Amino acid sequence: MRRINPPKRESLLIDGGEIEPGFKGYIPLPIAGMLGGGETALPLHCVRGASSGPVLAVQACVHGDEPQPVRALHNVLKKIDAEKFRGTLLMIPVANPFAFADFSRQSPDQHEQTNLWGAFPGNPKGTLTQRYAAKIREALIDNADFFAEFHSGGRAGRIQNRVDMDPGVKDPEVKGSAGKKARAMALAFARGGAGLVHGVPLSKASAPGYALSRGIPAISVEIGGAYLPEAEEAPYRRCLEEGLWNLMVHLGMLAGRERHSRLTYFDVSHRAEVNPSAGGYLLSRKTRFADIGGRVRKGQLLGEMLDPYTLEVTEELRSPSDGILFFSRCSGPVEVGNKGFAIATKTKKI
Ligand SMILES: [Zn+2]
Repeated sequence: MRRINPPKRESLLIDGGEIEPGFKGYIPLPIAGMLGGGETALPLHCVRGASSGPVLAVQACVHGDEPQPVRALHNVLKKIDAEKFRGTLLMIPVANPFAFADFSRQSPDQHEQTNLWGAFPGNPKGTLTQRYAAKIREALIDNADFFAEFHSGGRAGRIQNRVDMDPGVKDPEVKGSAGKKARAMALAFARGGAGLVHGVPLSKASAPGYALSRGIPAISVEIGGAYLPEAEEAPYRRCLEEGLWNLMVHLGMLAGRERHSRLTYFDVSHRAEVNPSAGGYLLSRKTRFADIGGRVRKGQLLGEMLDPYTLEVTEELRSPSDGILFFSRCSGPVEVGNKGFAIATKTKKI
């Protein structure tokens, strides 16, 4: 088995407790007492392999309406044998339980930053959202050699399938070779099946952007949707599971042969959106797994907007360009200001 990184440390402390080699278990991280009684905690799963190696930290459901990764993380965790594992996997499947219970991108905090995605590095004495961020920074990011954040589609039928990496790897604030390693992480993950890699700046207020600014290679993954039928959910889930697995093989944490395949890359300056000009009921033409990452032609009808009150079709949503569809929605209510479809207008094979 290859070794990408030498072990960074001999001891691993989580919430003040030492994690021994060979440990595999669940460690709830207490955050605060809640108005409704009881305490909110962050759900940390930890596998510390019997052999030393890098620490990979992953988190999902930063946005509470993006549950797709939960099932994939469950499946990956089941397959890992701590005795054969090299290094440490730290995993938080639900990073914002407050928003998760509300099936919302935002926490129901009444003030300050309510989007955990942009609340890093957090404040242990701040709002609940800021406290989650502070604990994630302490337990995951401060311990990590590599970091990955998982998003999916969620409310209003969003679906997507790609890996985001920050193209600003030449940023002097990104120390050492973090950017180069982050790029290799993104490619290894996308080879699990997502196939699309998007170069897009990662905000320093997000966990992966903050990690990168600290010199820790980090990526953001956007795969799947919410409440999809089983036949549609399964291929997205495979992209997540096999992406994470291939990443761990790439990092030398698991035995096996790393997958290598050609990927499609596009950057933030070569994308176009098609958004409804008014709220309404979207009749989508692009709802299948195979549609994401598929080709569209200039002028192609992607969806129509139906006024749910007058029951008239009020708008056609057509692709402004030839390209690759990388974001879509299933049919259903969509508010004005929400994105409809997104197209990569210029891509290259990497
Ligand atoms: Zn998200």
